[in-house]
Amino acid sequence: MATQKQKKTQKPKRTWQKRLIAVIACLLAILMLLPVFTMVFQSAFAATKDELQEQINSGKQQAADLSSKIKKLQSNIDAIAGDKSKALEQKRLLDEKVAAKEEEIANTKTVIANYDALISQKEQERQKAVAREEEEFELFCKRVRSMEEAGTVSYWSILFNAADFSDLLDRVSFVGEVMEYDNAVMDQLAETRRQIEDLKANLESARADQQAQKDQLVAQKNELDDDLNAAIKLVEEYESKQSEYQAAQDELKAEEEEIQSQILKKQKELQKKIASGQISFDTGTGWQWPLPGIYRITCRYGNRIHPITGLPQFHTGNDIGAPRNTPIHAARGGVITKSTYGNSYGNYVVVDHGDGYITLYAHMNSRAVSEGQVVTQGQVIGYVGTTGSSTGNHLHFEVRYNGKTVDGLKFYPSLAGQFVFS
Ligand SMILES: [Zn+2]
Repeated sequence: MATQKQKKTQKPKRTWQKRLIAVIACLLAILMLLPVFTMVFQSAFAATKDELQEQINSGKQQAADLSSKIKKLQSNIDAIAGDKSKALEQKRLLDEKVAAKEEEIANTKTVIANYDALISQKEQERQKAVAREEEEFELFCKRVRSMEEAGTVSYWSILFNAADFSDLLDRVSFVGEVMEYDNAVMDQLAETRRQIEDLKANLESARADQQAQKDQLVAQKNELDDDLNAAIKLVEEYESKQSEYQAAQDELKAEEEEIQSQILKKQKELQKKIASGQISFDTGTGWQWPLPGIYRITCRYGNRIHPITGLPQFHTGNDIGAPRNTPIHAARGGVITKSTYGNSYGNYVVVDHGDGYITLYAHMNSRAVSEGQVVTQGQVIGYVGTTGSSTGNHLHFEVRYNGKTVDGLKFYPSLAGQFVFS
């Protein structure tokens, strides 16, 4: 009877105990390793994610600074609006506002791109957590199945099947271990679920933040268009009603003369430096067209009837119509003797080629060089815009020889067939 009883209880004991111990050992090993893997993955991403978040935060700070700068410029514009004697100052402030607005737009685009990177990392992290949850759940199911196979579905049945008191004690201690393990598995599953929920909420908020930035970008672009239109309208206004804007006309004329004398003065200084060997540079070969591939001449050098005033006027350069921010290349190598903003030329750059020739590039949206800098032929010196007394995006390309303007197109005989005059 006793042997029979022992046989009956020992056999299942060995089976389920062996199986369970094997499964537990295996599972515990995996469970112990999982957090290590997770930590490795998280730390690998953490640096980049933190960096991205930091970049987004500093981008938002920059946006706040730009926004207050733009507001200040607008209040300065408002203060002199309608004052015809301050038309040029209004245009200068509008140009400054446009530049700040463009900086704002570039900043917003960077923030949006950083959000893209951050969102994709968060999404990867979430997918990893979901995969981990599936693995953990699979392990849990395996564990339940192995219990079922061992015929020990409930802990109570394990305990009730004890052969004697000592066996019962063994079983109690074993059940305790198993329950502890089960709890750890359940806890891990709950923790993973919580992490997934967190990541999901995190992702949703990042997406919402990014959408807000995208909406802002649309608004900023519209504001930029409004500012550009206001700037063009203002120039058309003071050009068409010259007698009403006498102050502006006088200012422009005085500025033109001042620029002319400065260019000549710097030309003499540079020629002395070249003669004494203090400076040397390579002008390159021949003349390179400043806007490669763009040959639409919207206003030629020479006498013309002003399109707005209808009055005869001398045009000191050739206007090349081109999209905003098209790169402008130096026609020849030389030294930058001027890189500044003027009411007439807007943002302009003068390259002195050292042999009596200078080239002047006007109405740039932005300048890429500074005074005193040596540039090589073809180097980008700025970008097309409509700053200063201009009513549309174009490059005013001017060539002077010993102070006198000349028609720049004559240096490009090979392009003669490509120029389109409109
Ligand atoms: Zn022009």
